[in-house]
Amino acid sequence: MGDREAQLHRACDAMRQHPRMHLSRLSSVRETAPWGLTQQPHFLNAVAEVYTDLSPEPLLDALKDIERRLGRSGDALRWGPRAIDLDILLFDDLVFWSPRLQIPHAQLLQREFVLVPLFELAPGLRDPQTRRFLADCLRELAETDSSER
Ligand code: AMP
Repeated sequence: MGDREAQLHRACDAMRQHPRMHLSRLSSVRETAPWGLTQQPHFLNAVAEVYTDLSPEPLLDALKDIERRLGRSGDALRWGPRAIDLDILLFDDLVFWSPRLQIPHAQLLQREFVLVPLFELAPGLRDPQTRRFLADCLRELAETDSSER
Protein backbone atom coordinates (compact mmCIF):
# COMPACT_ATOMS: atom_id res chain seq x y z
CA MET A 1 0.00 0.00 0.00
CA GLY A 2 1.06 3.62 -0.38
CA ASP A 3 4.21 4.41 -2.30
CA ARG A 4 5.04 0.78 -3.10
CA GLU A 5 8.54 1.40 -4.39
CA ALA A 6 9.46 3.56 -1.40
CA GLN A 7 8.15 0.82 0.92
CA LEU A 8 10.35 -1.77 -0.81
CA HIS A 9 13.37 0.48 -0.42
CA ARG A 10 12.54 1.13 3.23
CA ALA A 11 12.35 -2.62 3.85
CA CYS A 12 15.74 -3.14 2.18
CA ASP A 13 17.27 -0.29 4.18
CA ALA A 14 15.90 -1.80 7.40
CA MET A 15 17.51 -5.16 6.53
CA ARG A 16 20.78 -3.40 5.64
CA GLN A 17 20.76 -1.60 8.97
CA HIS A 18 19.95 -4.71 10.99
CA PRO A 19 23.04 -5.78 12.98
CA ARG A 20 22.49 -9.49 12.29
CA MET A 21 21.61 -9.31 8.57
CA HIS A 22 23.67 -8.61 5.52
CA LEU A 23 21.66 -7.91 2.38
CA SER A 24 24.03 -8.88 -0.41
CA ARG A 25 21.85 -8.83 -3.54
CA LEU A 26 18.41 -7.74 -4.67
CA SER A 27 16.59 -8.99 -7.76
CA SER A 28 14.90 -6.61 -10.14
CA VAL A 29 11.55 -5.35 -8.92
CA ARG A 30 8.54 -6.68 -10.81
CA GLU A 31 4.95 -5.58 -10.83
CA THR A 32 2.46 -8.42 -10.60
CA ALA A 33 -1.28 -8.75 -10.67
CA PRO A 34 -2.86 -9.54 -7.29
CA TRP A 35 -3.47 -13.18 -6.50
CA GLY A 36 -6.49 -14.56 -4.63
CA LEU A 37 -8.21 -11.20 -4.27
CA THR A 38 -8.05 -9.50 -7.63
CA GLN A 39 -9.87 -6.17 -7.00
CA GLN A 40 -6.86 -4.34 -5.54
CA PRO A 41 -3.77 -2.53 -6.81
CA HIS A 42 -0.96 -4.55 -8.33
CA PHE A 43 1.91 -5.69 -6.14
CA LEU A 44 5.62 -5.03 -6.41
CA ASN A 45 7.74 -8.11 -5.78
CA ALA A 46 11.44 -8.69 -5.35
CA VAL A 47 13.74 -11.29 -3.83
CA ALA A 48 16.72 -10.45 -1.64
CA GLU A 49 19.71 -12.58 -0.79
CA VAL A 50 20.49 -12.10 2.89
CA TYR A 51 23.29 -13.53 5.01
CA THR A 52 22.49 -13.88 8.67
CA ASP A 53 23.69 -15.63 11.80
CA LEU A 54 20.14 -15.67 13.14
CA SER A 55 18.36 -19.00 13.18
CA PRO A 56 15.05 -19.24 11.27
CA GLU A 57 12.54 -18.23 13.95
CA PRO A 58 14.52 -15.23 15.25
CA LEU A 59 14.93 -14.20 11.60
CA LEU A 60 11.14 -14.36 11.16
CA ASP A 61 10.75 -12.22 14.32
CA ALA A 62 13.20 -9.65 12.94
CA LEU A 63 11.31 -9.51 9.63
CA LYS A 64 7.95 -9.16 11.41
CA ASP A 65 9.44 -6.33 13.44
CA ILE A 66 10.49 -4.54 10.21
CA GLU A 67 6.99 -5.13 8.76
CA ARG A 68 5.44 -3.52 11.85
CA ARG A 69 7.79 -0.55 11.70
CA LEU A 70 6.82 -0.05 8.05
CA GLY A 71 3.16 0.17 8.96
CA ARG A 72 1.86 -3.36 8.70
CA SER A 73 -0.73 -4.13 11.33
CA GLY A 74 -3.26 -6.96 11.51
CA ASP A 75 -4.39 -7.40 7.91
CA ALA A 76 -8.06 -6.79 7.26
CA LEU A 77 -8.16 -9.31 4.43
CA ARG A 78 -6.27 -12.47 3.58
CA TRP A 79 -4.43 -11.83 0.28
CA GLY A 80 -5.49 -8.18 0.57
CA PRO A 81 -3.36 -5.04 0.19
CA ARG A 82 -0.54 -4.74 2.71
CA ALA A 83 2.06 -2.12 3.65
CA ILE A 84 4.85 -4.66 3.18
CA ASP A 85 5.25 -8.43 3.25
CA LEU A 86 8.60 -10.04 4.07
CA ASP A 87 8.73 -13.80 3.65
CA ILE A 88 11.52 -16.32 4.07
CA LEU A 89 11.64 -18.31 0.84
CA LEU A 90 14.67 -20.51 1.48
CA PHE A 91 17.29 -20.80 4.18
CA ASP A 92 20.33 -22.54 2.70
CA ASP A 93 19.23 -26.13 2.10
CA LEU A 94 17.21 -26.30 5.29
CA VAL A 95 13.81 -27.96 5.50
CA PHE A 96 12.15 -26.57 8.62
CA TRP A 97 8.66 -26.74 10.01
CA SER A 98 7.16 -25.22 13.13
CA PRO A 99 3.62 -24.02 13.81
CA ARG A 100 4.63 -20.49 12.77
CA LEU A 101 7.26 -21.04 10.14
CA GLN A 102 7.68 -23.29 7.15
CA ILE A 103 10.87 -23.36 5.07
CA PRO A 104 10.92 -23.59 2.08
CA HIS A 105 7.97 -21.18 1.97
CA ALA A 106 4.77 -23.19 1.44
CA GLN A 107 3.92 -21.47 -1.86
CA LEU A 108 7.45 -21.22 -3.21
CA LEU A 109 6.94 -23.53 -6.18
CA GLN A 110 3.41 -22.34 -7.01
CA ARG A 111 4.09 -18.67 -7.58
CA GLU A 112 5.70 -17.31 -10.68
CA PHE A 113 6.21 -13.87 -9.06
CA VAL A 114 8.44 -15.62 -6.50
CA LEU A 115 10.24 -18.08 -8.76
CA VAL A 116 11.16 -15.58 -11.49
CA PRO A 117 13.12 -13.14 -9.26
CA LEU A 118 14.58 -16.03 -7.26
CA PHE A 119 15.80 -17.64 -10.45
CA GLU A 120 17.30 -14.30 -11.50
CA LEU A 121 19.49 -14.30 -8.36
CA ALA A 122 20.28 -18.01 -8.23
CA PRO A 123 19.69 -19.82 -11.53
CA GLY A 124 21.31 -23.06 -10.36
CA LEU A 125 19.21 -23.44 -7.22
CA ARG A 126 17.28 -26.60 -6.34
CA ASP A 127 14.25 -26.93 -4.10
CA PRO A 128 15.69 -28.61 -0.98
CA GLN A 129 12.63 -30.83 -0.52
CA THR A 130 12.20 -32.27 -4.00
CA ARG A 131 15.78 -31.57 -5.24
CA ARG A 132 14.20 -30.23 -8.44
CA PHE A 133 15.90 -27.33 -10.20
CA LEU A 134 13.96 -24.07 -9.92
CA ALA A 135 14.27 -23.68 -13.69
CA ASP A 136 12.26 -26.90 -14.16
CA CYS A 137 9.64 -25.83 -11.60
CA LEU A 138 9.31 -22.49 -13.34
CA ARG A 139 8.91 -24.08 -16.77
CA GLU A 140 6.27 -26.45 -15.46
CA LEU A 141 4.39 -23.61 -13.77
CA ALA A 142 4.39 -21.57 -17.00
CA GLU A 143 3.03 -24.59 -18.90
CA THR A 144 0.28 -25.20 -16.33
CA ASP A 145 -0.69 -21.51 -16.34
CA SER A 146 -0.88 -21.32 -20.12
CA SER A 147 -2.94 -24.53 -20.38
CA GLU A 148 -5.39 -23.12 -17.79
CA ARG A 149 -5.84 -19.84 -19.66
P1 AMP B 1 2.27 -13.22 5.79
O1 AMP B 1 0.81 -13.01 5.54
O2 AMP B 1 3.06 -13.53 4.54
O3 AMP B 1 2.89 -12.11 6.58
O4 AMP B 1 2.44 -14.55 6.66
C1 AMP B 1 1.58 -14.89 7.74
C2 AMP B 1 2.28 -15.89 8.67
O5 AMP B 1 2.83 -16.97 7.93
C3 AMP B 1 3.46 -15.33 9.41
O6 AMP B 1 3.07 -14.62 10.56
C4 AMP B 1 4.29 -16.56 9.75
O7 AMP B 1 4.05 -17.03 11.07
C5 AMP B 1 3.78 -17.61 8.76
N1 AMP B 1 4.85 -18.20 7.94
C6 AMP B 1 5.02 -19.54 7.71
N2 AMP B 1 6.08 -19.77 6.93
C7 AMP B 1 6.62 -18.55 6.63
C8 AMP B 1 7.75 -18.13 5.86
N3 AMP B 1 8.56 -19.03 5.23
N4 AMP B 1 8.03 -16.80 5.78
C9 AMP B 1 7.22 -15.91 6.42
N5 AMP B 1 6.14 -16.22 7.16
C10 AMP B 1 5.83 -17.53 7.28
